[in-house]
Amino acid sequence: MPTHADCLFCKIVRGEVPADIVRQGERTVAFRDINPQAPTHVLVIPREHHPDAGAAAEADTGLLDALVRDARAVAEAEGIAGTGYRLVFNTGSGAGQTVFHLHAHLLGGRGLEWPPG
Ligand code: 5GP
Repeated sequence: MPTHADCLFCKIVRGEVPADIVRQGERTVAFRDINPQAPTHVLVIPREHHPDAGAAAEADTGLLDALVRDARAVAEAEGIAGTGYRLVFNTGSGAGQTVFHLHAHLLGGRGLEWPPG
């Protein structure tokens, strides 16, 4: 699936919108969230446009593997792989999804409570 002209995260992938990019993977790009909720808050996204995790899994076997693997690489680079981190896929507006290009929130660097709000 190609990138979408009007999608914010596709624009970040194409370099049309600036972002604090921490990792360029073969299939993914990782950049710091503009409104961080933890000392480490990185968004890991596929280069290709998929609206959410379910749609990506349906369309492209292996893409979520790459996303999770690359998120782990970012966690290791950030020094939080040992203490623990959280990966979140908000899916649907009722769950807080505001950007409809698949992204994993990688959160860590502080204690994380459960259940989330
Ligand atoms: P969602 O609410 O869809 O799960 O997450 C979208 C995330 O994208 C939010 O945490 C929000 O802060 C982040 N975000 C929105 N616009 C931008 C932007 O232009 N640049 C960056 N780096 N993050 C953004």
